[in-house]
Order: sequence, then C-alpha cells, then structure tokens
Amino acid sequence: MERDHIDIGDDLDILVKHDRRIEKLNRNFGDLLGKGLQLFSLGGGLTYYILSQILTDFHLKRGYYLVRTPFITNTLLYQISGHLSYYKQNMYIFNIEDEEFAIKPMNCPHHILIFTNLLEKYRKIKLPFRTFELGTVHRYEPSGSVYGLLRVRSLTQDDSHVFITPNLLEKEIEKLIDEMIILYEKVFNINLKSSEFKVRLSLHDPNKMDEYSGSKEDWEYVENVMRNVINKLSNKYNFPTYEGIGEAAFYGPKYDFTLKIGEKEWQLGTIQLDFNLPKNFKLIELVKDYFGIDNLYIIHRAYLGSIERFIGAYLESFKGRLPFVLTPIQVAILDIFTGNKEKDNKIKEYAMKIYNNLKNKEIRVVNIETTKTQLSNMTRILESTYKPYIIIYIGEKEVNDNIYSIRYYNINSKNIEEKKMKEEELYNLIEELEKPLEELNNKKYRIFEDFNFIFE
Ligand code: ZN
Repeated sequence: MERDHIDIGDDLDILVKHDRRIEKLNRNFGDLLGKGLQLFSLGGGLTYYILSQILTDFHLKRGYYLVRTPFITNTLLYQISGHLSYYKQNMYIFNIEDEEFAIKPMNCPHHILIFTNLLEKYRKIKLPFRTFELGTVHRYEPSGSVYGLLRVRSLTQDDSHVFITPNLLEKEIEKLIDEMIILYEKVFNINLKSSEFKVRLSLHDPNKMDEYSGSKEDWEYVENVMRNVINKLSNKYNFPTYEGIGEAAFYGPKYDFTLKIGEKEWQLGTIQLDFNLPKNFKLIELVKDYFGIDNLYIIHRAYLGSIERFIGAYLESFKGRLPFVLTPIQVAILDIFTGNKEKDNKIKEYAMKIYNNLKNKEIRVVNIETTKTQLSNMTRILESTYKPYIIIYIGEKEVNDNIYSIRYYNINSKNIEEKKMKEEELYNLIEELEKPLEELNNKKYRIFEDFNFIFE
C-alpha cells in the first residue's frame, strides 16, 4: 500500500501522528489536540519557518505590503463583510464581556480595514495596492471530513488581497499567474509547462443574475478579461483551461489551479474577484471621493492555498522528497568504523572536519557512526525516513585517498547516483541544488539545526 502523507510526515518529524499513544497519560496525541488540528514537530517547524521566509521575501520583491492580523475579532466586522450571514456555520463564535467574537475564518476583512485606514489617512494610494499575510485562519470542518494536513481546522494561507481599478485588471491578473508559475518552478521544482496543470475559470450563470453581487457590466467585463488572460497564458505555457458556467461564487468569478502530481489531482492556488466586499465596506464611495474613480475590485489570491495542505500534498506526491532547501536533514555523513582504534580515530577526525565545514556554512548535516556491516541498513533507514539529498561515506579508503564517496539525489534525473568527490565538488553540488531558489529571491536560506540526537 502507498504510504500517505501522515506516515511520511511522521518519518520526517513534520507532524505528530494523532493515533500515537502517550502511555503515561493513557491518551492519544489526537485526543489531546482535537480533530483537524496538527502539531508541526521539528521537521515541520523548520520547513514551515523557511517556507514562510521564502514566501515573505518573494512577495516583498514583487510589490506587496506585509500585514499581520489577530486571530480573534469582534463579529461586527464579519457582520459588515457579510461572512456572518453566509459563512457562520464554519465559524467559531464566543462571548467576552458581553461582546461577541469570532475566531478569524478569513483574513480579507482585516486587510480591507488596513486599506481603508491608509486611504482615509493619506487620501492617496498607488493602485493596485497589494497586501500579503501568512494568515492563520480557523474554520469548522465536520470531524468526519478532517484528514491529516490535507483537511484541517487551523490553517495558514499565503493570502493576498489586491485593491484595483477595472482598467488595471488585465495586467495584474497576468502578473499574478506568472508569479504563481515561477514560484512553483523555482521553489518546488514543479514545472507547470510539463506537469499536468489545469486552470478552471468559474463564471456566473446569466440566467440567475439576481443571485450575484455586482452589476451585469462588472461580471461581463471581468469575465472577459479573465478569459483573455488565461487564453493567452495557456498558449504561452501550454496548459489546458476549462470554463464552468454557473460555478462562480456569488461575489465574483475565479480561477482554480489544479495540479496533477503522481496519481492524484490537487486543487491548490486560487485567484478570485470580488465585487461584494468593496461594496459592503463602502470602498467605492471612498475611492470616488478621493480619486474620482467610480469602481474598485478586490482580488483574493493564494498560490499554495494553505501551507498545511500544500506540504501534505507535496509529501504524498513526492514520497517525502521535499525541496533541498526545505528538507530537514540535507546531508548525512556516515563514519564507517573498522574496529581498529587508530584507524577509527582518523576516520572520525576526517568526518568531523567535513561536518564542521558544512555546519559553518549552515547546511543541515548530521554525523552518524556506523560500521561496514551496518552500513547498508543505515543507508536504508535514512532513505526511507529523512531522505537527505546527500550521504557522504567516510571509511579508511576515503581518508587515505582524501576523497568523499557520495550518494546523492539528482533532482534532474530524479535518481540516486553515486560518485567520488573532492571537497570543492561537494560544495558545487550543494550550490547547484540551491540555485533555482537563489535565482528567485537572491538568497540561499541556509539555517542549521542539530538533528544528530536522532541517530545517536
Ligand atoms: Zn480574501
């Protein structure tokens, strides 16, 4: 049977399995946490942290403003946004000092408040205005439908809102889709041109116009723009697009991006237009007063969707092989001891030199002591759990020849390969693995953490 992302995530210490027992407390971890909630353990915490740095830098370089919003909010905000009337069944609501609060299910109303404040305060703002937040939201999902990281009650979205006038829309949407494509390619090594990638454009049903927010003119204009952009990009990148009449949300048309990795299809990124929120928050009156503009749209967009779901899908699709920069243990050095004390001391000394050099470069490296007879077993354990990209074997021969025997994962051929290397070649190999991401953000994202205790 194929291993699912929960077992794979456990191997990498990304998460803590709900059905694992805490014997002393006579409980399962899942009992104590609650359904649909996950702990990011050592591997998960690290992966999450580096990924959030990458995403933050990515957006900063592309004209977004970082914002941050609280986890709970007075329900008045959701009354104005409208979520309280159509999304209440998914919200956690409670009272404090006679006031009603909700745990934030969506970041949009908060981003709108930030935009409104800036607009009122400065009476000018350059449009499109883009906010970005790794926004954690909590949503009620029935206990029967929650599953690992793929369907959770607490999730963090790579959430952005773009405030924009109709005339700027076409250029902006093209920018957004291009950004998404480059992000998948450079960070996750997923080439959308060759992957099975589909875009679905959900449109309104012209016969049910009274069920939608926004004017007929808005819907027709925006859908036309969205159709033009996606047709253009579909020719450029060679991916199929589909249209679904009547599948739009009541507040606006949207694109959904589906990716087939391995056997499964994942619905990940989304770009949605919104005619409703600008109206509910009186933004159109505001921009009319200050800019003399008579219309404003909001674009909601997330490229990965939620971090939890994306990591889950990625683990499952790539069988635990995370991108090099995100993988908890990048390099493992195996000392092959002989039983001869003098020889073993030399081996240890040689291995420690490599270990310290890599550690000083902030490469996540572990040093494991083993013997010739245990070697293949240890390699198998590493490759079936933490999957380091590079395993360096140091035995008597390597010390004498001043060389490293290396087993590494070739990202291009997707095969494990073996090679004897000099020190310099090892560093080149590491830089090669970091290159795509470095091209994207002009940064290496090297962070050392000590995982040695796992193998002691
Ligand atoms: Zn939103």
